[in-house]
Amino acid sequence: MLKYERKTDKSNHIKALVSDMTLSEKIGQMVQVNSSESGVTEKLRRQLQAGKIGSVLNEVEPEAVEEMQRIAREESRLGIPLLIGRDVIHGFNTIFPIPLGQAATWNRELVEKGARYAAEEASLCGINWTFAPMLDVSRDPRWGRIAECLGEDPILTSELGAAMVRGFQTDKLERPDAILSCAKHFAGYGATESGRDYNSANIPQVELRNTFFPPFLAAIAAGSRSVMTSFSDLNGVPPTANGWLLRQVLREEWNFTGLVVSDWESINELINHGVAADEKQATLMATMAGVNMDMESNAYAKCLEGLVVNELVDEELIDELVVEILNVKFDLGLFNEPQKTIVSVPSLESKLELAKQLALESVVLLKNDQELLPLDSEATDSIAVIGPLADDGYEQMGTWVFDGDAKRSQTVLEALLKRKGFGLDVQYVQALKTTRTHDQSGFENALNIARKCDIVLLVMGEESILSGEAHCRADIQLPGAQEALIEAVSACGKPIILVVMAGRPLVLKAIVDKVDAIFFAWHPGSMGGPAIVDLLFGNATPSGKLPVTFPRSIGQVPIYYGHRNTGRPVSEDTVMLIDDIEPRAPQTSIGNRSFHLDVDPTPLFDFGYGLSYTRFEYSELRLERYQLVAGEHLEVEVSVSNVGSRTGEEIAQLYVRDLVASVARPVRELKDFCRVRLTPGEEKRIHFSLPSSSLAFYDGDGVSRLESGNFRLWVGGSSLADLSIEFELVV
Ligand code: BGC
Repeated sequence: MLKYERKTDKSNHIKALVSDMTLSEKIGQMVQVNSSESGVTEKLRRQLQAGKIGSVLNEVEPEAVEEMQRIAREESRLGIPLLIGRDVIHGFNTIFPIPLGQAATWNRELVEKGARYAAEEASLCGINWTFAPMLDVSRDPRWGRIAECLGEDPILTSELGAAMVRGFQTDKLERPDAILSCAKHFAGYGATESGRDYNSANIPQVELRNTFFPPFLAAIAAGSRSVMTSFSDLNGVPPTANGWLLRQVLREEWNFTGLVVSDWESINELINHGVAADEKQATLMATMAGVNMDMESNAYAKCLEGLVVNELVDEELIDELVVEILNVKFDLGLFNEPQKTIVSVPSLESKLELAKQLALESVVLLKNDQELLPLDSEATDSIAVIGPLADDGYEQMGTWVFDGDAKRSQTVLEALLKRKGFGLDVQYVQALKTTRTHDQSGFENALNIARKCDIVLLVMGEESILSGEAHCRADIQLPGAQEALIEAVSACGKPIILVVMAGRPLVLKAIVDKVDAIFFAWHPGSMGGPAIVDLLFGNATPSGKLPVTFPRSIGQVPIYYGHRNTGRPVSEDTVMLIDDIEPRAPQTSIGNRSFHLDVDPTPLFDFGYGLSYTRFEYSELRLERYQLVAGEHLEVEVSVSNVGSRTGEEIAQLYVRDLVASVARPVRELKDFCRVRLTPGEEKRIHFSLPSSSLAFYDGDGVSRLESGNFRLWVGGSSLADLSIEFELVV
């Protein structure tokens, strides 16, 4: 029974509720606690009965969740239901590729569907809130959490992040199988110094507003009703205590009306940051900044009542923060009677099919010398499968898979063995126990099968524990003895295909020339194996494109396509490398350009890059009008044709450069993209429509500017697209 009969009018319902709440009950709504392994403990029961908890995270046992909700609804004085939170990041029981891998699909519909299926699985356990999507733009592959983000670009992140929000929440949050999304981590967490987790982020306002904020704005526009603060400090002020960020930007400028939750213990961590002297001050700062809910610090529970009683915090402020929480609960349908029931559940088969499609589209073909791939089934009699990730269903799921069912995973080896029926001899040697091991005792057996077989397939990379939260690396080459193994295998003279499964871009320079083909598969999730095997044999054509730049050397980081030009940009003709410098060359002989002496200044693989088994050509780039008037749209058309011999999908990308502006703008900025499927010989005319507002940018004072002037626009298959055209914006 609901204590408060649900009124259709939200504001009246909540007004009545809040006016009836004691201070302690209000604060209770602002407290989120972690579930203990023993489910509904006596302590939790008493707290729920007393209305001292508004949300529980990490409880996934349906009976325990049901019991918690029952106690909250029936045994607490006001019967307010709970938000049940969980990190449902890239699938729930069925695991899709890590978010960075999903970003490589550049496929809004598929990414939305992934979030939808994850929400359906999670809501079966009573979960009604996921802490996703993570929208931190990151340009540092050392950072372990790059695995969870959607790459280096604000537009790609915005588009796919919004797709995830739609997938989790649907257009009707009240639906029993919809779950609340949480745009995290607001803001700047992806820019922590030296790619070390939890570290400081120093981001000037120009960058913050032009690069780091847009995905959050897009998620809110897509309906995300919750936001999580970031652990890192932002220009010295941790977001959990940052009123400018949480009040001025989020609520006043963006009109966000949902709830803000702190990250795990981040209220108490204000003490470690050195901005609060004690828990009481930390609580005061977070409350004043507008943090509605305290995740696991226990600071609100301990200190907030005292702060109100001592008149350091106005009870009206508490009311405001509580109303925002209750509004979200109302929108989620938690005040509805009867309790949520699930209407439809996707079959396991359809979930695995989706996991396979996402994996297929996320794999990026980085290299394919002499068109080794796809393998010709007729001509390939035997394959030597070698490497620590060839047959590990757990590791291929990647980071944040609390609820992932490794038994659902199908590995590359398993998928290959299924092809045995086609007369394929599959030999397997793991060679390295883990991706990190330095023990080379397994090499000899690996080399034996490599020598015997037609083709060698190496499946290597990083185990899941090497990326994700707190799992950062300073050296991002293949770890352990993997490079040595590649070296040894390459001496056998057999064609080598390398499949890399990893949570981040790796520095592949040392081995790129030692193999013939490379699939970068990220951590591909439950169906990674069958997807990779389909790509190997041409049952599917690779179409993934890099959502992040791959450096040649760790010293190049940060390296990203959307950099500014500098006053002394480097070019092919002006670069001078260490090996080319004559002994005692005069100081001036190497020029004065922006580059390192010891590495080619270009990336190893560029943003937006990815090969296919066919080839695409772009032509006839046209604009409807070459002068764009503010308030109008720029209509762009281009022809894309498949000039190869296989059907394939191309990701067409549109980039723009603002040639002269009051603030130096990036040399290229992605503005739009689409997937096009083309049969051999087919040509399609594709169309983009750019609103003039997409050419606006923020200056150093945080003012949005749309400035008259000339722009160059490119369309093509990567950030190196060369087909271009100029237009003028008139404001
Ligand atoms: C992470 C968040 C996550 C939370 C709850 C924190 O450590 O930073 O992203 O949602 O834990 O698990």
